[in-house]
Amino acid sequence: MSTAVLTIDDIATNNTPALVDYLVEKGIRVLMFAWGENVEKHPENAIYALQHGMIIGNHSYTHPNFAEISFEEGIAEIEKTESILDDIYKKAGVERKYRPFRFPYGSKGGENKEKYEQYLRDHGFSKLDDRAISYPWWKETGLDKDIDTLWTFDFAEYQIRPGSGFTMEDVFKRVHDTNPGSGGVLLEEGSNHIILMHDHEETLAMVPDYYKIMIEHIMENGVTFKEPEFI
Ligand SMILES: [Zn+2]
Repeated sequence: MSTAVLTIDDIATNNTPALVDYLVEKGIRVLMFAWGENVEKHPENAIYALQHGMIIGNHSYTHPNFAEISFEEGIAEIEKTESILDDIYKKAGVERKYRPFRFPYGSKGGENKEKYEQYLRDHGFSKLDDRAISYPWWKETGLDKDIDTLWTFDFAEYQIRPGSGFTMEDVFKRVHDTNPGSGGVLLEEGSNHIILMHDHEETLAMVPDYYKIMIEHIMENGVTFKEPEFI
């Protein structure tokens, strides 16, 4: 058996309420990372997620690669989204206890990485509790010190696109991979994970119910979900 916190990126979409309903039905509380721009397009769907117990963190405003923009542009992306999130928490009538942040594409800002970490530390951002992650590389690469939220397992289902050749079979191969090129072995006995999944309408158009298929598959294979907690 392995244990995991589920994180879902790129909300909000037209499908967010259906996704939330499914998570509620399964009793899974997740950490969602929102684009500020997408929340402005679908505020009611982000509010729906909050009112159903999901936590929403900051995933920038327009989802740029932070290694390719200036530090000032990056901070503007973060701050604009912070105020949008403050606003929807308020509209949802839910207290905002945590302020997690995830860089788009897992890019930590290139040469500005340490400046971003310092900024997040100084501005009250929340670190997802990663103390149960026992992979040596997690500590060796300093991920245990970083405030932003990376992941240990990526379904890579966003690669299912017209013409990509990547299918749900490839997603399952990743789930069962015992020697992955990056990240941890999801189904390794006793392992702890931060799992990355996305709320993408493009994927839904290719594979209806893709998130149900993936979540059910890993639950059947011994993954138990735990609530996101912060340190
Ligand atoms: Zn993203």
